[in-house]
Amino acid sequence: MLNLEALAEVCRQYDADLLRDEQLSAHTTFRVGGSCPAFITLRNIRACKGIVQYLRLNGIPFRLIGRGSNLLVPDAGYPGVVLVLGGELAELTDVQGEKLICGAGMSLKNLCLVALNQNLTGLEFAYGIPGTVGGAVYMNAGAYDGEFSQILDSVTVLDGSCELRTLPAEALELRYRHSILMERSWQVLSVTVALRAGDEEKIRARMQELLGRRQQKQPLEYPSAGSTFKRPAGSYASLLIDQCGLKGYRVGGAQVSEKHAGFVVNRGDATFSDIMAVCRHVQETVKAQTGYELELEPEILHAD
Ligand code: FAD
Repeated sequence: MLNLEALAEVCRQYDADLLRDEQLSAHTTFRVGGSCPAFITLRNIRACKGIVQYLRLNGIPFRLIGRGSNLLVPDAGYPGVVLVLGGELAELTDVQGEKLICGAGMSLKNLCLVALNQNLTGLEFAYGIPGTVGGAVYMNAGAYDGEFSQILDSVTVLDGSCELRTLPAEALELRYRHSILMERSWQVLSVTVALRAGDEEKIRARMQELLGRRQQKQPLEYPSAGSTFKRPAGSYASLLIDQCGLKGYRVGGAQVSEKHAGFVVNRGDATFSDIMAVCRHVQETVKAQTGYELELEPEILHAD
């Protein structure tokens, strides 16, 4: 049972910020979703261990999120505690030769900029993917022939018994938009990526080129969670959706982007229900007309 007064006391003990009845739409790039009773920023490993242990012992549902750039929050909100990483858990920890070590709450963009400053190549593909480094590991984020599995060295997680474990990348079974973290209640706290020595000008040029391609092709002027559907084996979601004449299909404030059929966007006042209605219609139409089954890419923030 969630006792907010007791939780606030635990947060004080660990110097963690607690916001009550926080609107989660402010913490997702889709800008939809209801509230959660408690939203906590964890600033160090001690706070993660202590607070997660408290939540587990008291049977309180919780979820660690990043920037909410691959997240759909129901209109009714989330009935438990939402955790985010801040302070030293969102910063660069160390540079060891060609390896960068950072807190999992660090923004992917900032890690890309550190790699550039250190003349390290391998992370250029990720420039322009919103979100945190931890979220990118969880999703095995990727673009333009690169994905996290290619550069991940190891992670440190808080496991189901609130013990810290450092795991090599192979242990995470990373494949297309999948990691073993999707099947475990583990929190990634620290990430090490292994890059290669490169040429600063070439790295910068590649980053700018890929960012330019995104700006040209993606509807970045509207809130979204990026590609709404995973790539089905043998085709592309955007191609199939376009072929089915679904560009511009709209329910309430949610719409299949007219610029890029792979994106469902929020035209200003979309609800979770609007987005799900558009997604269901797209899935049913594409299945009926082409036989392909499209799977949602963003995660829905349900109570586990
Ligand atoms: P969130 O959305 O906050 O969370 C996603 C999941 O990860 C949740 O289940 C959450 O519980 C879990 N999680 C987050 N952090 C942790 C942690 N530290 N430990 C354990 N679990 C954690 N994705 C791509 O792969 N390629 C792209 O090119 C791409 N382009 C995008 C473009 C736009 C405009 C947008 C809005 C999104 C795009 N995305 C893309 C999707 C998204 O940015 C990525 O999936 C990103 O890696 C999600 O990171 P996040 O920190 O926002 O995670």
